[in-house]
Amino acid sequence: MHIFAIANQKGGVGKTTTTVNLAAALTASGKRTLLVDLDPQGNATMGSGVDKRTLEKSVYQVLLGLANLDEARTVSPTGHFDLLPANRDLAGAEVEMVELNRREMRLKEALTRHASDYDFVLIDCPPSLSLLTLNGLCAAHGVVIPMQCEYYALEGLSDLVNTIKKVHANLNPDLKIIGLLRVMFDTRATLGHQVSAELEQHFGDKVFKTIVPRNIRLAEAPSYGIPGVLFDKAAKGSQAYLAFASEMIERVKTM
Ligand code: ADP
Ligand code: MG
Repeated sequence: MHIFAIANQKGGVGKTTTTVNLAAALTASGKRTLLVDLDPQGNATMGSGVDKRTLEKSVYQVLLGLANLDEARTVSPTGHFDLLPANRDLAGAEVEMVELNRREMRLKEALTRHASDYDFVLIDCPPSLSLLTLNGLCAAHGVVIPMQCEYYALEGLSDLVNTIKKVHANLNPDLKIIGLLRVMFDTRATLGHQVSAELEQHFGDKVFKTIVPRNIRLAEAPSYGIPGVLFDKAAKGSQAYLAFASEMIERVKTM
């Protein structure tokens, strides 16, 4: 089982889109996949075709030890992967977990019991470096960082990289950066190409070869609760996420 956290403390950078599409693409390739929604906004839940307003159990209960993964997980009716869903309840978990033992290990412990159920577990992290994200990083073997090739992209990255280093040193020696994924790429913008080249210089092999273009079909898909790669498989953005899934499958072979 490979557990990856999809993280970037900035909002709106493509974490959820990446998580949902990668989960659907891996599932379509025959990989047993679980998507964990760790964001109280529940966007990955909705984007997977599950209504966050009607959840009986969610990742919240799992983190607080009120339910097992068995009881809280469901299946995405559109993406066909398993989903540990989230909704606003999760916002309270942050505060409630502070009282608990090993509060940053709650998700890890819940997943460890199901190690043989999945080939891939993908954790959609919230846009912060909070206790929730820390649970994601402590549970994961690696981090996938989606980023837009903008002027300030590299600046924001150092906070995340430092957090990952600290977690690696103190809490989770397994953790490493799997790679940076360039998303919402605008092929016509010169700046994008410059930042992209800079990323390759800085991070070398850690930059995934696949580049996900800005593509309206990827943005439309969540409103139907269907992962983009299944909503419109032929769209350029979907093709990129399918290629990214193949790249991930190749990359884990070397891990
Ligand atoms: P995050 O989870 O980091 O906050 P999202 O995945 O929700 O980011 O993406 C933010 C917004 O950008 C959403 O409205 C999403 O539909 C849109 N989006 C994400 N990736 C793309 C893309 N490649 N092309 C066009 N729109 C995108
Ligand atoms: Mg999100």
